[in-house]
Amino acid sequence: PRLANQIAAGEVVERPASVLKELVENAIDAGSRRIEIELEAGGAKLIRVRDDGSGIDAEDLPLALSRHATSKIATLDELEGVASLGFRGEALASIGSVARLELFSNVTDEPANGWRVVAEGRDMASRVSPAPHPRGTSVAVRDLFFNTPARRKFLRTEKTEYGHLEEAFRRLALSRYDIGWVLRHNQKGIHQLRPAASLTERRARVAALLGQEFVANALDVEVEATGLRLWGWVGLPTHTRAQADQQYFFVNGRVIRDRLVAHAVRQAYRDVLFHGRQPVFVLYLELDPKVVDVNVHPTKHEVRFRDSRLVHDFLFSSLHRALADTRA
Ligand code: ADP
Ligand code: MG
Repeated sequence: PRLANQIAAGEVVERPASVLKELVENAIDAGSRRIEIELEAGGAKLIRVRDDGSGIDAEDLPLALSRHATSKIATLDELEGVASLGFRGEALASIGSVARLELFSNVTDEPANGWRVVAEGRDMASRVSPAPHPRGTSVAVRDLFFNTPARRKFLRTEKTEYGHLEEAFRRLALSRYDIGWVLRHNQKGIHQLRPAASLTERRARVAALLGQEFVANALDVEVEATGLRLWGWVGLPTHTRAQADQQYFFVNGRVIRDRLVAHAVRQAYRDVLFHGRQPVFVLYLELDPKVVDVNVHPTKHEVRFRDSRLVHDFLFSSLHRALADTRA
């Protein structure tokens, strides 16, 4: 199983940023309201995610760390229309096979009821020992790839890896405004984001994550049609420092890159943008989970819409109208 886990780790754990993404997605799936992230040395030394979610029962702890153990779907039927971010049950096992992983959890409000379990690149430790922890879960991942030197060699500089971590954080924090977030790197506070309920608060979060320039030159979008809802912000042509990487598209809270979506956005911008300029946007598409398939790729950046034509046309017409209005 260790080899199987390490092979699976190749798919799931590419670099520190992918570890962060998996741990945070678990925290989100656990219903957390507050997620704290602590990083050291671009994540190579430490990636710690602490949440106040449901916690994991002591008996379930070793299972949570074994391959293909997921508590999130019980049948293949449920795979259709899956709403949770994780559902493969391989992230923790994979990470534990290529790093030193320490997990604390508690399902009660009494801190003394906490538990701890460790895995150090071996088969998952089955030893669970009592350890104090507030309700929720903390996962610390240390010395990533310490036992897979070939993979460790592929880690880039601290700065580069940190850049990927920050980008992963941006996507996650943009995906859930109802969650409060803390990000620290090398003991330094980088972001402290309180839950954002109102549009003003949400805009402030986007400004904190993407810069004041982005929101100052962005248009609010909010369109609803049968079963489809699109909201968020699109950069106006006045956006002078438009960066191609400020393109965020979320489908039911999941960040995705999709050719159909990119095409619809580009088409909508065609008459509005000056040549060579990249559209920038933070957009949220919400639709019935049953009409979108997220189980295309392990890292889940791709989706398949049941009616892709409908989605394309909805995106195009919503954005085209919004952008055209600004020129009228
Ligand atoms: P998946 O998310 O695909 O189910 P993971 O390997 O990421 O697989 O996690 C395995 C299981 O461990 C999850 O199904 C969940 O039951 C449990 N788990 C992991 N992280 C947390 C967390 N932060 N809070 C509560 N449960 C968790
Ligand atoms: Mg998961």
